[in-house]
Amino acid sequence: APLVEAVGLVREYHMGDQLVRALDGLDLRLDGGQFASVVGPSGAGKSTLLHVLGALDAPTSGTITVDGVDLGSLSDEQASEFRRHRVGFVFQFFNLVPTMSAWENVALPRLLDNQSLRKARPRAVELLERVGLGARVDHRPSELSGGQMQRVAIARSLIMNPTILLADEPTGNLDSATGAAVLELLAEVAHDEPNRLVVMVTHDPNAAAVADTTITVRDGKVA
Ligand code: ADP
Ligand code: ADP
Repeated sequence: APLVEAVGLVREYHMGDQLVRALDGLDLRLDGGQFASVVGPSGAGKSTLLHVLGALDAPTSGTITVDGVDLGSLSDEQASEFRRHRVGFVFQFFNLVPTMSAWENVALPRLLDNQSLRKARPRAVELLERVGLGARVDHRPSELSGGQMQRVAIARSLIMNPTILLADEPTGNLDSATGAAVLELLAEVAHDEPNRLVVMVTHDPNAAAVADTTITVRDGKVA
């Protein structure tokens, strides 16, 4: 079975007395071990798709399963559990805690899962080595370049060993050479694990082209 399967996925929002269909019967099948990019015009439903994939938004109707988990049937508590344990998030502006060192930032999801920061240190350091920052584990974000900060964020997104890694414009704040290295890392992370999928929303056609597969979203559907 595919790692992600969406059938007739609908997500509606109320905007005052207007009903907006951000996703309008979207169908999608994606196998693991892949790096997928999501492109399409502004307002097409790309962010909504990312939010539904990450169990941040529940579908209004239709079905979506991630690694066999039916996201439409989760309670709020189950959705929160799913986000913490199965999903990694990478953002355009890195979202690192400025007062914490690189390794503490990477270990933070363990702390939020009621584990000790100290106990998570070996794994955090290992992940920083994996992203090429073994010499920067004690640095604060302000002491790192943009590309290095995004590598820390990618290491953080991996510490819970997620099934699905969602990246929203991860190169949007980086120059093209630094961005290319970050894209290469995201592709490696996807290819490392047959049971992992990396999904990236991007406006940059060059970034999208690095992915194994490109999903074009238009009017809430896959075009
Ligand atoms: P994209 O990421 O492709 O620009 P979005 O998923 O952000 O598209 O938005 C798709 C549509 O849904 C747009 O018309 C947008 O205004 C609407 N929308 C998205 N999120 C919300 C929300 N939280 N409340 C109301 N409308 C929303
Ligand atoms: P809880 O409901 O237990 O507080 P959260 O809502 O904090 O759980 O979700 C856990 C994960 O989801 C965290 O890794 C967090 O970064 C991510 N997350 C929460 N809200 C958002 C959001 N609006 N956009 C992107 N990621 C989010």
